[in-house]
Amino acid sequence: MANTLYIVDDDLFSRQPQLVRDTTLAETQNLFAFVSGFKVILQQPSKFPTRFDFTDSVVKVVESDGDVGAFHNQSVRTQTANLAHSAQQNGVTLNTGTQKRNAGVPERGGIGFQSKDILTAGSQKLAFVLTGGAASLETVKEAVAEFNAGGRSRNEILADKKNAIEGTRTRKGLGLAGYYGRHQALVDIRGLTAWDLVEKPLSDWPKDDQISVATALARLIAHEARHQYIAPHYNGGGLGASEASLWGDKNFAAFDKGDQKEVSVALANFTKLQKTATIHLETNPTNQPFPY
Ligand SMILES: [Zn+2]
Repeated sequence: MANTLYIVDDDLFSRQPQLVRDTTLAETQNLFAFVSGFKVILQQPSKFPTRFDFTDSVVKVVESDGDVGAFHNQSVRTQTANLAHSAQQNGVTLNTGTQKRNAGVPERGGIGFQSKDILTAGSQKLAFVLTGGAASLETVKEAVAEFNAGGRSRNEILADKKNAIEGTRTRKGLGLAGYYGRHQALVDIRGLTAWDLVEKPLSDWPKDDQISVATALARLIAHEARHQYIAPHYNGGGLGASEASLWGDKNFAAFDKGDQKEVSVALANFTKLQKTATIHLETNPTNQPFPY
């Protein structure tokens, strides 16, 4: 299906609270509402299409930042093998040396990668689609926790608390009783509680925070989907920018207007390019390993 962003509805994503699932889907749809006919679908692995349109993207939600790199390597390897298999089924040999390479844009908590091209094999023109992305729950949970903790990290809060109780070279300590009598103690407790949630499943988070995490997750998913249409970051700001803040800064809450225009142009160019293919290779052939 053209202009479709597939969010992989695997074991991890399907066990998230319904509120998180619904909000993530709705917010991701909102972020791409500027593309007419754009669809965002939660797709179970067994229901994935065998072929992807040049205008499609796929994002897998992973548990931790450390899962991103492993997923990227595995997915590229599997997709490359699957595409070669598909070419073979069509009686052609894939010359992978000629394909446009895109190592992906690795960043904190996510990645988006793509190689979409028309490859020539004898008289045939092969539509080659290697695409994918990952979005880490850990990063979005931390973005919301940091905001709820007033911008302080856990270590900063602990250091402030220690300094208040024990004192510093320039300031006398309050002692435990003195500290807990201060408003600062309440602020610190609230901050530490926010950080404690990061280790917990989203079902343990208050509903309001679940909505915040899901909204931040939608932004990360959309950012990584965008890399599957345009590899470089958008240098005019907004959600497509490098190091886009995921929570608490309205400047990064949506794609910049200029970026939206570039994404629309990229999608239109992909549609045009794809029409020249005589064989559309399968990225996810039946009975081959699932690449996400
Ligand atoms: Zn990026």
